[in-house]
Amino acid sequence: MKLNPYFADLDESYFFSEMRARTDAYAAMHPDEHLYRMGIGDVTQPLCPAVIQGLMRGVRDQSTMETFHGYLFECGTDFLRSAIAEHYATRGVTLFPEEIFITSGAGDEIGALGDLFSSDNTVLVTEPAYPAYVDTSIMGGRRIVHLPSGKADGFLPMPVPDLKADLIFLCSPNNPTGAAYTKAQLKEWVDYANTQEAVILFDAAYEAFITDSDVPHSIFEIDGAERCAIEICSLSKTAGFTGTRCGYTIVPNALIRNGQSLRALWVRSRTTKTNGISYILQRGAEAVFTPAGQAQTKASIAVYQENARIWMDALDRAGLWYTGGRNAPYIWVACPNGRSSWAMFDLLLTKAQIIVTPGVGFGACSEGFFRISMFSEPSEASAAAERFLSLMQTL
Ligand code: PLP
Repeated sequence: MKLNPYFADLDESYFFSEMRARTDAYAAMHPDEHLYRMGIGDVTQPLCPAVIQGLMRGVRDQSTMETFHGYLFECGTDFLRSAIAEHYATRGVTLFPEEIFITSGAGDEIGALGDLFSSDNTVLVTEPAYPAYVDTSIMGGRRIVHLPSGKADGFLPMPVPDLKADLIFLCSPNNPTGAAYTKAQLKEWVDYANTQEAVILFDAAYEAFITDSDVPHSIFEIDGAERCAIEICSLSKTAGFTGTRCGYTIVPNALIRNGQSLRALWVRSRTTKTNGISYILQRGAEAVFTPAGQAQTKASIAVYQENARIWMDALDRAGLWYTGGRNAPYIWVACPNGRSSWAMFDLLLTKAQIIVTPGVGFGACSEGFFRISMFSEPSEASAAAERFLSLMQTL
């Protein structure tokens, strides 16, 4: 028996434990001080009433002989796949329900989709990156090429023709930078992938935060993407499902590699490795796509967007460089006066009691930046922004 040897290539995941250790040590020494937690990428607003009604309908259906459901089709129910297809149609994207796979969230899919690809493929990861892209690629034994980004390109790296890759992770709007590709920029990526016969794994977990009209919500708004992309999406941030768990992955019929339909292979994988998502959850998820669900989830997102507006105003007044906030619940800020990410973390914790995420947790080209999450309660976000600005004015 041999274990997967690639686990040995993973970096120690000390980062979040270090953040916790520094925060706990400070809190223990200052028990009377309130901490403003602006580091956590988790929602705070509850599920909306329409979703609760959908979930309750699911529960009620399971209670009578006539409406009870046992095992469902592993790839998702017709009602939810159709609801998502209709939602995409409102954006001008035509999908067949069979191209939509109902999942337990984007995180599970980022790892699971590796099933479709040989371990000797090369993976392109734009940096800084959501850590799962790197770690799942390492666990799968795949070689990674890192494409750096920075202030000069606004943390929106573009394809480099000589850089060869088989799989490409793109996340827009991005975690951690909050930067979002325009249609024209994504078209360049799609053309690059089609030329190379690569496959883009497009993480659209934050699409619900987009406000700019030239930023696409789905990669399938781009011509040619149906021939090179898989979209991973989630209701976690769209509708507050981080603890409820439901998402969807789109594998288009037109996506063919080596003469094989990736959609057909994915059906084969899912019908072997899962028994699908619970009926009750799928009824809750269906409600997100009703007019009431759309209005109510948008109202929750507006709360986070207002936090972002307040923080962007504070950052503008402090004269700091940042990306994000406009189309994402994250703001990625350059540390003032050449400070390191951890020095900035310590400064904000000890002088303003604000907890942010040091950039260095997100890999290459993240040093010297920090991430502020907009998911906190509005009163916390605005009080923290005020404290932040006061501290910056003393530097
Ligand atoms: N992708 C990105 C970029 C994320 O930031 C997250 C969660 O924070 C996920 C995927 C995982 O989302 P889910 O809750 O759907 O598993």
